[in-house]
Amino acid sequence: IRTIGVMTSGGDSPGMNAAIRAVARACSYYNVKCIGFYRGYQGMIENDYCEMNARSVRNIISAGGTILKSARSEEFKTAEGRKKAAENLKKAEVDAMILIGGDGTFKGGKIFSEEHDIPVIGVPGTIDNDIAGTNFTIGYDTALNTVVDAIDKIRDTASSHDRLFFIEVMGRDAGFIALNSGVGAGAEEILIPEEDLGLDRLLESLKRSKRSGKSSSIVVVCEGDKIGKNVYELADYVTENMPDYDVRVTVLGHMQRGGSPSCFDRTLASRLCVKAVELLLDGEQNVMVGLLNNKIVATDFDNGLKEDHSINKELLRISDILSV
Ligand code: ATP
Repeated sequence: IRTIGVMTSGGDSPGMNAAIRAVARACSYYNVKCIGFYRGYQGMIENDYCEMNARSVRNIISAGGTILKSARSEEFKTAEGRKKAAENLKKAEVDAMILIGGDGTFKGGKIFSEEHDIPVIGVPGTIDNDIAGTNFTIGYDTALNTVVDAIDKIRDTASSHDRLFFIEVMGRDAGFIALNSGVGAGAEEILIPEEDLGLDRLLESLKRSKRSGKSSSIVVVCEGDKIGKNVYELADYVTENMPDYDVRVTVLGHMQRGGSPSCFDRTLASRLCVKAVELLLDGEQNVMVGLLNNKIVATDFDNGLKEDHSINKELLRISDILSV
């Protein structure tokens, strides 16, 4: 392998820059040429790339976002789009690709590699933490800390005004951020897609909290929760049923994806990407790298993408006990 390409795709996450840096530096260390494609698969289709060396990634380890930009590409979902990308890689003499992104990125990478016989390795970069082949994805730890920090601030004002806040956090299909930030910030209730606890139970719990002397409360709601109401409808529902509570809503939104990556995410990105380069040089391909039991290991894409990423439901019980 003489040239390795790298790109970032799907939702951006803090630590993607640390990952790009690690790929470029590991390539330099092993005397391999490194090319960075802009805007994920879309840049591969449009042949939009730059050559990278150890110096072109200076001072980016602490920066949020991704210097290579990220995008979602509808064209890459078509065979024609993937063919264009493959032709461009051949022209640029790219022998293998490192794909930094989430499950969609990995699905696309697997199809691409099978169709065009180009070795790829996936590096899990998403704040969602919803990939089975790793205990942690790059960006998740930073996002958790951002969310906890935001909830702490909302708690200050909730408590000063005796208010009940519904706080919506990211996670279309997975409740990792909601569950862990909820416990970390001491939320009264946490609503996640993996467990529908029902409206009656929510109401009962809030009433119990109020009876026990709590004057303000925080409910963390995952955007993909299955309770059947969005965060605003939930607030209306609770207002109707608990008219004496002053209910407010905060949607944290895209701030959760930004910011300087935590030390954990920087280290994780560095470890995963050095391994990704080394695996390619050892002839390995079509796997994802992940951190399992504190070891960096390669997992088949199919196993890595399994649906049943195990959320720790024990945390719901902990939350219940501690919000007494
Ligand atoms: P995040 O979890 O942060 O949203 P992601 O990688 O899952 O990141 P997606 O938008 O789902 O984000 O996927 C990224 C890109 O991967 C898509 O825009 C598309 O170009 C490509 N992709 C996803 N699924 C497929 C597929 N089945 N076939 C081909 N390409 C795909």
